[in-house]
Amino acid sequence: MKRIAIVGGGISGLSAAFVLEQRRRLGAELEYVLFESSPRFGGVIHTELVDGCVVEAGPDCFLTEKPWAADLCRELGLADQLIASNDAVRKTYILVKGRLLPLPDGLMFTVPTNFRAAFLSPLFSRRTKLRMIREWFYPRHQSGDRTVADFVERHYGHEMVERIADPLLAGIYGGSADELSLLSVLPRFAEMEAKYGSLGRAMIASRKKPASPHPLFTSLRNGMQQMTDALLARVPQLALQANTTVESVKRESRKWLVFAGGRTVEFDGIIIATPAHIACEMLGADAGLANELRAIRYSSSVTVTLGYDEGVRAALPAGFGFLVPRAETRRLLAATFVHNKFPGRAPQNRALIRCVLGGTRNESILESSEEEVLSVVREELRQILGISEPPLFVRVYKWKQAMAQYNVGHGARVERIRNLLAGMPGLAIAGNAYSGIGVPDCVRSGTDAAAKVGGDLGIS
Ligand SMILES: Cc1cc2nc3c(=O)[nH]c(=O)nc-3n(C[C@H](O)[C@H](O)[C@H](O)COP(=O)(O)OP(=O)(O)OC[C@H]3O[C@@H](n4cnc5c(N)ncnc54)[C@H](O)[C@@H]3O)c2cc1C
Repeated sequence: MKRIAIVGGGISGLSAAFVLEQRRRLGAELEYVLFESSPRFGGVIHTELVDGCVVEAGPDCFLTEKPWAADLCRELGLADQLIASNDAVRKTYILVKGRLLPLPDGLMFTVPTNFRAAFLSPLFSRRTKLRMIREWFYPRHQSGDRTVADFVERHYGHEMVERIADPLLAGIYGGSADELSLLSVLPRFAEMEAKYGSLGRAMIASRKKPASPHPLFTSLRNGMQQMTDALLARVPQLALQANTTVESVKRESRKWLVFAGGRTVEFDGIIIATPAHIACEMLGADAGLANELRAIRYSSSVTVTLGYDEGVRAALPAGFGFLVPRAETRRLLAATFVHNKFPGRAPQNRALIRCVLGGTRNESILESSEEEVLSVVREELRQILGISEPPLFVRVYKWKQAMAQYNVGHGARVERIRNLLAGMPGLAIAGNAYSGIGVPDCVRSGTDAAAKVGGDLGIS
């Protein structure tokens, strides 16, 4: 009988547990234990039902084009619970000099594909519009890794970085365009530059293929936690150890020793599915791997969801929400009009606004009390959207060092980590620090980690 430890009960660790459980049920001779330091499993995936509204503390959806999360939901019997974003009303605004300006139709990240809409948009200066024309004639270009800001600036100038690229990346990664890696964050764009030179021409060429019939985002009817709850229901209670922090792990006599809750437990294999900065502390004795993991930076964030009545709902602009460039010197990074983004998120007489703060721009917000955070959010919503009435309810969630930053050189680091792991039988790592930060990527990383450890231990 092979024994495997999984450390970390977020979506990555739970996905790994699900794979092991499937193999066990098929007759593989294995046992596993899932260690989770907090009282609840699910990690940053956490949904609450408040006043008839679905409130997401962490992720609220996933990208449909990455299939691993939706496939997992189907395997878990949740196919009929998958819901599509309301793309017909998808409109995102950018705050510029205190005004909300819509992103023009056809803008793919920073690449205009509908020139008429881009030229008519008040979001861009005449100078940027001229850059869009010039960009069409760019020659092919291939280079090593560089920041997203360098890349976008080369094609469209600084205004495109400041108004579009940086706020979008702040909203997704909590990161900054002048640190994040082109090759890790936008690999497709680097390929387009190498093949076509102009991103505009590359986009138009790729659009000759039929448009995808799928929605941009997918979620679950009762919130993202439906997925982690369904995973938990598949794992036997005996395998679940909540409230148990793993302090360290050590390789000794072809076994893995796990130190947790004042005890040492022996395993044949181990999957570490915690953030990399925690994994490196655990693996302290292995300096090479620990140093690589330590170098992966993280950002923190705070999400604040506010519920309002139908009066506020009627007065809000149509669309999914807005992003805030750093030049606006606000604390808000982004706000989502949740009731518009997915069906069934709030009753007709409720507006649900979710705000994101923090990121590498404003890490210190985490030290503020919930009251302070709420007062910042309410003041900024008053100035931006004109909402002065008190919310009907509020939920504030803090996520410390939860989002990995794929800074320049990240891809090469992940390659080195992979090579180091190849020489460490029975050990795998999973999570958002390596090959994708989204929920689907984490599902895949947990699944791959279970496959690696299973393979190392000869479990078919
Ligand atoms: C606010 C926010 C919004 C996001 N929005 C989206 C989105 O809309 N769409 C999307 O696709 N992605 C989104 N993401 C990213 C995505 O949700 C995460 O990358 C993913 O859920 C991370 O899962 P994980 O299991 O790797 O890590 P986590 O969820 O962080 O889980 C790690 C677990 O390990 C446990 N742990 C830590 N240390 C120990 C220890 N020593 N011993 C035992 N257990 C330990 C922790 O308690 C935690 O439960 C968002 C992330 C955040 C923070």
